[in-house]
Amino acid sequence: MDELVKAHLDHRRSWQDFDYCYPVISRRSKGVSLGVNLNPDKVCNFDCVYCEVDRQTPARRADLDLEQLTQEMAALLDLTLSGELFATAPFNSASAGQRRLNDIAFSGDGEPTTLREFPAVVARMADLKRARGLDDVKLVLITDASRLRAPEIVEGLDILMANQGEIWAKLDAGTEAYYREINRSKVPFTRILDNLAATAERWPIVIQTLFLRWQGQGPSAGEVEAYIHCLQALRERGKLKGLQLYTVARPTPEPEARPLPAAELDLLAAQVSDALPGVPVEVFYGPA
Ligand code: SF4
Repeated sequence: MDELVKAHLDHRRSWQDFDYCYPVISRRSKGVSLGVNLNPDKVCNFDCVYCEVDRQTPARRADLDLEQLTQEMAALLDLTLSGELFATAPFNSASAGQRRLNDIAFSGDGEPTTLREFPAVVARMADLKRARGLDDVKLVLITDASRLRAPEIVEGLDILMANQGEIWAKLDAGTEAYYREINRSKVPFTRILDNLAATAERWPIVIQTLFLRWQGQGPSAGEVEAYIHCLQALRERGKLKGLQLYTVARPTPEPEARPLPAAELDLLAAQVSDALPGVPVEVFYGPA
């Protein structure tokens, strides 16, 4: 396995001695994505069965130092732009096509929208991008959608979307029961759906869905039907920019959370495409 494939698989959220920012070659971004881990404390309001975050080992730190975070991202931007990043393993095995900076992504070891300082961090990242003339570089929020209508998050989204923003929001279920089983959150499923609809009314959103084999079973036909119905309802109220379907790609602490085989994922993608004409559907496979 080459170094880059290994990096895809472990998707390490660390870079040297940095606490918040890290570079990855991203399958979904098809280039370099500079991550901002807003949850080094590993706090999340979901507890997905497939979550790969190791919550057994202690967190690096629990606070957010905005100055340090900004300096870390500035350093990574400069390393990427100068090409120095690609002199370091595993980035030295990136193909020419992968050596492009695609985005700064708010992601990490928990849910980024649980952080009150979210709008301030987005503003800082937009400033860094602007100062370097990086108009084409996106700001991507990867979210579980649980807090998309909180006032400070809407404030942050206003800044994000004014700076080549994209919202990639999770929807892994079509029913409350399956959502509770897979995402194991106390946030009501109806709130997730309402948040997604309210956000899509205002901005185009990308839905990210992870389908898996959980305890030996993929999602039932009824679950998939309900999920498609949720997407159709969402599209009636707002704009769906696209769908990303993926499966478990890395080892997870829950051994019963396994990848859905590629053929089953393809079948689901075809079903979703048929039900949502005009919405681009991308599929990302886990290891066979
Ligand atoms: S939302 Fe993300 S970080 Fe939170 S439990 Fe699920 S996979 Fe893990």
